[in-house]
Amino acid sequence: MDARPLVENYHSATASARHFADPIVFWDETLRDGEQMPGVHFSPEEKLRIATVLSEVGVQVIDAGIPVVSPDEAEAVRTVVGAGLRAKILASARTVAGDVDAVIRTGATHIAIFVAASEVHLRYKLKMTQEQVLEASLASVRQAKDAGLHVAFVTEDTVRAPFDYVERLYKAVQEAGADRLVVSDTVGIMTPLTFRWYLEEFARRVHPKDWSVHCHNDFGLAVANTLTALEVGVTTPHVCVNGLGERSGNASLEEVVVALESLYGVRTGLKTERLYELSRLVEEVSGVPIAPNKALVGYNSFSHEAGIHTHGILAHTLTYEPLQPEVVGRHRQMILGKHTGKAALVEKLKEHGITTTDPLLVELLRRVKNGGEARGKDELHRFLEEYRTLFEHPGLTDKEFWQMVDDAGIRGNAP
Ligand code: MN
Repeated sequence: MDARPLVENYHSATASARHFADPIVFWDETLRDGEQMPGVHFSPEEKLRIATVLSEVGVQVIDAGIPVVSPDEAEAVRTVVGAGLRAKILASARTVAGDVDAVIRTGATHIAIFVAASEVHLRYKLKMTQEQVLEASLASVRQAKDAGLHVAFVTEDTVRAPFDYVERLYKAVQEAGADRLVVSDTVGIMTPLTFRWYLEEFARRVHPKDWSVHCHNDFGLAVANTLTALEVGVTTPHVCVNGLGERSGNASLEEVVVALESLYGVRTGLKTERLYELSRLVEEVSGVPIAPNKALVGYNSFSHEAGIHTHGILAHTLTYEPLQPEVVGRHRQMILGKHTGKAALVEKLKEHGITTTDPLLVELLRRVKNGGEARGKDELHRFLEEYRTLFEHPGLTDKEFWQMVDDAGIRGNAP
């Protein structure tokens, strides 16, 4: 028998360029950044449901939210903290004493203290100088350390801030006791090669004891950039189930984990076979539908209709699938329609123990193709119309808002 492998794997050719941490620590942001997605809100019970499965899957750190946001949010964080999950529960705070206090009161063991770093954020949003940001950061880090918390220090917009300032700020907070430094690509403008350069420069200048990245998906590069960071040796990727998050979202948990496992052979220790279940739970609770062509958890990820593809898959799944669907807890689907070929029909008939002659098969194929083409799109169009109405404006409607303005007696009181 031919000893050549069925497929070549060139990842081995570049293996020496990768320096994965062991273990890689997954820091899930679904309940914080994910919840900041327009229209998404979780009740304390819903946060607990998601956190429970995240923890069972093996995610090590869960950001449960920002307690100072509202009494409900503080309650949600306390609920997750109180559940005794295996994962470490983290809560987030601005560099404000009251925010840090609010985290301490939840009983969370981990805190993420965040402040902005780029000039545009300092000048227009915070209206603070670099010195003021530095002072506030040091005070908050010390406050949290004094309370015995594990402290991650985060700057928003790190990669658009002056490097000299980033270096000074991160070195100072690390000296003040920060345990983990988080580099954020808040508006998703990095590309893998630039990010590699950035992180290597960051490591050379700052010498982080432990570090993390927070990548956004504005250009569809969040997962690629996160993998790049892990290749460089970053220990703790921020991820969100289904890539949820502000605007176009964050790096998707399932994509980062399965890319590590299946492309590089990294054993993450996570139960990948429960990722689809987790994805469906978050779809249901967030109300944000999974795109049909979403990697790994999209409804099409392991479906085949085209005759050539189905024929290939039936002969050997490696022809048109890079991994087995069972890896993420799914099954392969053969879709019948316009593009179906004979091989799929033979296979389908076999399910009922039926074999048939070629002329009958040709006739059946004609009917299946016609049936596929004749399927009306009315139902689909009605659904899309409703979907657009719901998702183009996911928050309160204008009508609801103006009703609230009237109910609050604001219109009549205009000066
Ligand atoms: Mn973010």
